Amino acid sequence: MTGSFEGLPLSRTTAVGSIRIHGLEAGVQLLDGGAMFGVVPKPLWERRIPADHRNRIPLAMRCLLIEAPHALVLVDTGVGNKGNEKFRDIYGISNEGDPTRLEDAIRHAGFQPSDVDIVLNTHLHFDHAGGNTFRDERGQVRISFPGARHVVQKRELDFAHGQNERVRASYVTENFDAVTRAGLWTFVEGVGDVTKGVSVVPTPGHTPFHQSVMIESHGEVACFLADVCPTTAHLPLPWIMGYDLEPLVTLESKRGLWQRALTEDWLLVFQHDPRTPWGRLDPESDLPALRSE
Ligand SMILES: [Zn+2]
Repeated sequence: MTGSFEGLPLSRTTAVGSIRIHGLEAGVQLLDGGAMFGVVPKPLWERRIPADHRNRIPLAMRCLLIEAPHALVLVDTGVGNKGNEKFRDIYGISNEGDPTRLEDAIRHAGFQPSDVDIVLNTHLHFDHAGGNTFRDERGQVRISFPGARHVVQKRELDFAHGQNERVRASYVTENFDAVTRAGLWTFVEGVGDVTKGVSVVPTPGHTPFHQSVMIESHGEVACFLADVCPTTAHLPLPWIMGYDLEPLVTLESKRGLWQRALTEDWLLVFQHDPRTPWGRLDPESDLPALRSE
C-alpha cells in the first residue's frame, strides 16, 4: 500500500439515526493532481494533497455499506480486479484482497459479500463500478454480487455506452454489461427511493447523470457525495475536477447541496478523500469547510 494509507482501518462505522453506515476502504489510486483540481493552480492544491514524482496524488476508493431497515446496501464497488498490469500502473491502483480489498472491508464491517441486497452505483466510471464484476481464476468475468439488485440512473448506463473520445477511457463495459445480461439492473430516473431510508438525488456535472445517495433516519441525514465533491479539498465551489464533463453544472450541484447540508446539518461522506471519510459543514465558516467535531 502507498505510505500515507498504511494504518487506515478497512472499515469505519457511524450512525445516521438508527441506520448504521460503514465507510469501506476499497483501495487506493493515484491520479494526476492537475486533473483532480481543474483550474486550481498547483501551489494551492499541493498544500492540501501533496503530489508524487509523477504529479499524482493518493485517493481513496471508499465505498459505503448501509444497514437500511429492509436491505443491506453497498454504494459503489471500487475498481475491481480485472485491470491488467499497465492499467494498474497508470492509475497507481492497490486494492489487493479476496478477491479485492472491497470484499475484505465488507467482512471487516461484520458482513459477507453475499449479504449485500442492493448494489447502488453513483455512476459507472471504472473506479466506482469496476467491482461490479470480477475476473475469476479461469479468466471469466463474473458478477461480484449475483444475489443483489443493482441500481443506477438509466441514462447513465445509456451514456456509458456512448463511448466518445472524451469519455471512453473512463467507461469499461465489462464492468456493467454483465449486469445487463444477467437482468440485475433496477433503473432510476431523477430523484428516486431505493429502499426505506435510502434514496438517490441527481448531482450532475461530473457526468450528466451522476447521482449522490441520501441516507435518512429519525430526522438525521447523510449524503454520500461521490464525484460531485471527491475530497474535503473540493468543498469550495470553484475547486472542481478537470475530469468533470460539465464543470458549471457541477458548480450548481454543489451550491444546492451545501445550502441544504448547512440547513439540515447533513453528514457528508467523501469517497476519494485520502484520510477523512465524513464530516459536517461549519456554519461559522465563510467558505464551505468541515467543522472540527
Ligand atoms: Zn467519476
